[in-house]
Order: sequence, then C-alpha cells, then structure tokens
Amino acid sequence: MSDPSRAPGVLHVVATPIGNLGDLSPRAQAVLRSVDAICAEDTRHTRQLLGHFGIERPLIALHEHNEDGLAARLVERLQAGESLALVSDAGTPLVSDPGFRLVRAAREAGLRVSPVPGPSALIAALSVAGLPSDRFVFEGFLPAKAGARRERLRTLASEPRTVLFYESSHRIEEMLADAVQTFGGARPAVVARELTKLFETVLDGPLEALAARVAGEADQRKGEFVVLIEGAGDDVDARLAEGRRVYALLSREIKPSLAAKLAADITGAPRKSLYGQGTPDT
Ligand code: SAM
Repeated sequence: MSDPSRAPGVLHVVATPIGNLGDLSPRAQAVLRSVDAICAEDTRHTRQLLGHFGIERPLIALHEHNEDGLAARLVERLQAGESLALVSDAGTPLVSDPGFRLVRAAREAGLRVSPVPGPSALIAALSVAGLPSDRFVFEGFLPAKAGARRERLRTLASEPRTVLFYESSHRIEEMLADAVQTFGGARPAVVARELTKLFETVLDGPLEALAARVAGEADQRKGEFVVLIEGAGDDVDARLAEGRRVYALLSREIKPSLAAKLAADITGAPRKSLYGQGTPDT
C-alpha cells in the first residue's frame, strides 16, 4: 500500500566487480545493505555476490526481456517511498547491460537516480592500454553476423579517437581478423583480457601481430575481452580517403556539388578535393 506521507525513494545505480570481489566499494556495500530491494540481471549471480559480503536483501530479476514491462511497476514502488538498487552481473549497469529503460522511466517520473560508481571493463582497459585516452569512442559489442560486423568496422576505420569494443571468447579471433582487414595491420591496438582476474593479460602491438598471437594461442582466446584500437588521428590522408568514400556513396543519389558539400561537412575533408573526383567504385 502506498503511503502518501512517505517521501519518494531513490534508485541507486551500483557498480559491482568485474572479477575481483575486493572491488565492491564500502559505499556500494552500504547502499546495497540499506535498500528495500535490489534489481539484478541474474538473481542467482547477485545472491552469490551479496552472500560473500553477508548482505541479505530481496532481489528482483530485471533483464532485457522483462525491463520494459517492469519499469513502470518499479517506478510506482519508488514513488511509494521504497528505495531500490540496480546492479548488473558485473561492472556498471547500463554499460552494455540492462537498466536504461528503468533509469529513463525513473527520471521521467522526476525521481532521484543516484550513482554508486565503480568498476567498468571499458574504463579499466582504457586506464592500462597506453593508447590516447583524452578522447575515445565506446562501441560496445559488434554485430554477431560477419557482414554487419565488417560494415560497422568500416564506418570506424577513419575515426580519429581511440575506439573500444567489448568482445567474447567466441568471436575474438574473427573480430581481430576483420579489424586487420579494415584498419590495416599496422594500426596500434590493445587486447585486454580477464581484467582484475587470475589470468589478466594486456597485449599491445600492431593489429596484425595481435591477431596472429590470439589466433595462434588458445589461452589468449579464453575469457572476457576489451579490444582497443588507436584512432586514425587527425591524419589528413585518412580524412581525405573517408571524404572520397562518403562522396562516392552520396553522389550516386544526389547531385555532385551537394554530395561534395555534405561529404566535406561529414568528414572534414576539403570540399574542393572531393568535387569532380568522379565516382570511385567503393
Ligand atoms: N557492464 C559491464 C561493464 O561495465 O564493464 C559490461 C557488461 S558486458 C555484458 C560484458 C563484457 O564486458 C564482456 O563480454 C567483456 O567484453 C567485458 N568485460 C567484462 N568483464 C571483463 C574483464 N574482467 N576483463 C575484460 N573484459 C571484461
């Protein structure tokens, strides 16, 4: 029953370890201990984590298949004064994990959503990769199908910022082979595996050497991965190549002068270097 005298509760978004239990912060423990219920991606997994810290709270399963339907009911519970925590199996919720719909619904209802920051594999990998980290792009998981995956990689080939991907053991070998084809074998990259766990490994080198190492050594294909690829930088040649690629695509559909203007706006390549280039068959 909702008590109108009770202030609305808070939704705490709590990061949990990506491998090392010691990474559950004291504040995360205190918040998890204090809430009325904990929304968890996999309740069995979270029960184990909580058990390790002697925390016993009711758990609510919230995953990609039920989040849409459940968000409204959870918002009602928050409005009625209950406080809730949201956790995922590992790392920070919403980062390639469920929670976006619940957080959006809570914010739209004017409720307080408060972070308890902590581990995330992408930031952990970036912090040790030794690649430019002032600007970076997180692409999450690439599409599982080879064609869609290659197409996504192609759109990133001239990206000037460091690009980060999540990858699984099933696809790491294929993903690196595709990356060599798209970014070129010489592009500096890092494969960060099993961070904070027993077999933590951070390999760096040109993409081609990394792909060969992972293909040739079964152990390097085990576990969880973050792949980081250095950006093309503000390389004039890369910008020009991308400008020509975009111009070629656009000029199939619209008149060349407009195609050149748009391609220049999109890629930063000089318009004059594109217009009148003909239509390269990319
Ligand atoms: N929300 C999580 C976070 O903040 O990092 C990510 C969840 S996503 C479903 C799981 C993916 O994150 C894995 O497939 C892997 O790509 C990456 N990952 C998680 N833990 C990792 C670890 N210890 N080392 C390397 N990558 C990891």
